[in-house]
Amino acid sequence: MSEQVKEKSNKLVDVFRDHKKLKIFFSRAVPLTEFIEDVKAVSASVPCPFHSDSTPSAKLFFDEDGTVRLYCFTEHRQFTSFDYVTKIMGEDPILFLTRRFSESEMEGILHKVTFSISTRPIIVDLDEAAEHLPNVEEFLAKVYFVHVK
Ligand SMILES: [Zn+2]
Repeated sequence: MSEQVKEKSNKLVDVFRDHKKLKIFFSRAVPLTEFIEDVKAVSASVPCPFHSDSTPSAKLFFDEDGTVRLYCFTEHRQFTSFDYVTKIMGEDPILFLTRRFSESEMEGILHKVTFSISTRPIIVDLDEAAEHLPNVEEFLAKVYFVHVK
């Protein structure tokens, strides 16, 4: 095994061992849109799969690197494919990855992942500001065309 190959493998092992990195890597490797049917509703609200949601109260966000996020306005939380696979499907994220991708495929994806950038969509900051602003829901509805109960 050459030095270069060894180094790459270690990088992948490093990601698998670090929960935070694994979550970022997984979210990039497996798009959340794979599990959420209504992909055409990019700018519309979708039902949140993480709670019993009779009216669509979540919205999808697409990062520049290809990661898809869902923000739930009822729970005030954001989710990715990592949460879907671990919480809803109850699967082990590493097993899921190794079943789907070869090691070299994962190494290819690894090159496209940035671990240091902020992963908070601005809407999360706005949502968290709700307690400080009187009409933040009205404001969000106007700016993002989302219906907030
Ligand atoms: Zn929710």
